[in-house]
Amino acid sequence: MLRIRAGSVHPVTAPPIEDGAVLVDDRGTIAAVGPNRCVPEPPAPGAHVLECPDAVLVPGLVNTHTHLELTHLAGRNSEPEFARWIRTIRALKDATPPDEFTRSAERGVRDCWAAGVTCVADTGSTGAVMHALHALGGRGICYQEVFGPDPAQARTSLAELEQALTRLGSLASSRLRLGVSPHAPYTVSAPLYRAVDDFARSLGLPVAVHLAESREETQLVREGSGSFADALRSRGIAVQAQHCSPVQYLLRLGALERATGWLCIHCVQVDGPDIETLRDAGVAVAHCPRSNRAHGHGAAPLAAFRRAGLRVGLGTDSVVSTGDVTLWPEATAAGLEGEEALRMLTIEGARALGLEREIGSLDVGKQADLAVFPSTALHRPSPPSTALLTVVAGRVVHQR
Ligand SMILES: [Zn+2]
Repeated sequence: MLRIRAGSVHPVTAPPIEDGAVLVDDRGTIAAVGPNRCVPEPPAPGAHVLECPDAVLVPGLVNTHTHLELTHLAGRNSEPEFARWIRTIRALKDATPPDEFTRSAERGVRDCWAAGVTCVADTGSTGAVMHALHALGGRGICYQEVFGPDPAQARTSLAELEQALTRLGSLASSRLRLGVSPHAPYTVSAPLYRAVDDFARSLGLPVAVHLAESREETQLVREGSGSFADALRSRGIAVQAQHCSPVQYLLRLGALERATGWLCIHCVQVDGPDIETLRDAGVAVAHCPRSNRAHGHGAAPLAAFRRAGLRVGLGTDSVVSTGDVTLWPEATAAGLEGEEALRMLTIEGARALGLEREIGSLDVGKQADLAVFPSTALHRPSPPSTALLTVVAGRVVHQR
C-alpha cells in the first residue's frame, strides 16, 4: 500500500484539499482521498508512506500526442519548411538502427514520468514504444502508424499494418492499448484511409490521425498543389484537387462517421463548418500549441473547440518539434493556468482518449496515477516541469 500526504491535493473532480492525503491499495487503485486527518494510515507494516508538505499532489498528467520513438532525434532537425522537415524525419528514421529506437522509446517513457506524465497517446511506426511501455509498466495507447500515398500501395500497407498489430497484440493490456494511425492526408491515399477505417472498426481499435496541421496540407487537399503535391508527383503519384478542407475530405471518405474512437491531432487549419463536422463525428482533438507554433502552422481555435463541446487534450508532439514532453508549458501556450490548466492536462486529456472512467482525477476506485510537483500553488508561474514523484497504477515510477 502507498499513502502520500501533500500540502495540497487536487482531485480535479472536487475542490482542492489543503493538507490532504491519498491512500492507494495493493491493486493500484485509489482507496481514499481527503483531508490528511480523514485518510486512514495503511495497516500493513512495510507500507510506503510519503510526506510532501511543500508540494501539490495531482492526478497524473495525460499527454495526448507524443512520438517517443523519436526521442533520440531531439535537436536534430532544424529544417524550416514543413514538407522538407517531414522528409528529413523520414531520412533520420531510416538511418536509425532498431536498438536505437528501443533505447529512445525507453528514455522517452522515463522523460514523461519525470514530467509527471502517467499516460501517453503515442503514434509511431516501429513498435518500440509499445515494447517500452510494456517492459517498464507504463500506461498509454500506442497507435501503429501506416503510410502509403500511392493508391496502388494500399493493399500492401494494410497487410503490413495487420502484421505489425499481430506482433504487438500480445503486449496489450488494460493499461496498454493498441490502436492504428493512418498518418496524414499527404502520406495516406484515399483507398488506404478507407481500408484502415474499415479494419479499425471491425476490431474496435482506436484511431489517431494528423489532420489539418499545415497550410501545405490544406493546399494539397484543396488545390492539388504546393510542396506536398510536388513531392508526390516527383515520385510518380497522381494528385487530384479535392476542392475542400482536409476535415471535409475525411468526411467525404466516410472516415468521420460515428468516429468516437478517433483522435484528430493538430486541427489548426479548420473553419466553423469543420469544427461542426468534428463535433458531429464525435472525435476528440489533440491540441499541440507549442508544436504548431514551432512549425509556423498558426494556432488551433481552442476556444471554438470547447464551445462546440469537442473533447480536447493537450499534446507535446515529438521532441524534435518542441524539445521536451512536459505539459505545463503546453498549457501556458494554450492560454490556460491554475485549475483550468490542471483540468485540461488530466480529466480532459483522459476524456479525449476515452479513459475518463479509469484515470484523470483522484476518485476512489480509479487507477492510482499520481504526480507530485514541488509547488504550493498551481497559479502563475506554473509548477516546475519536473515532478518530485510520479506513480502509475500505484507503483512509484519516478522519485526525485
Ligand atoms: Zn505528431
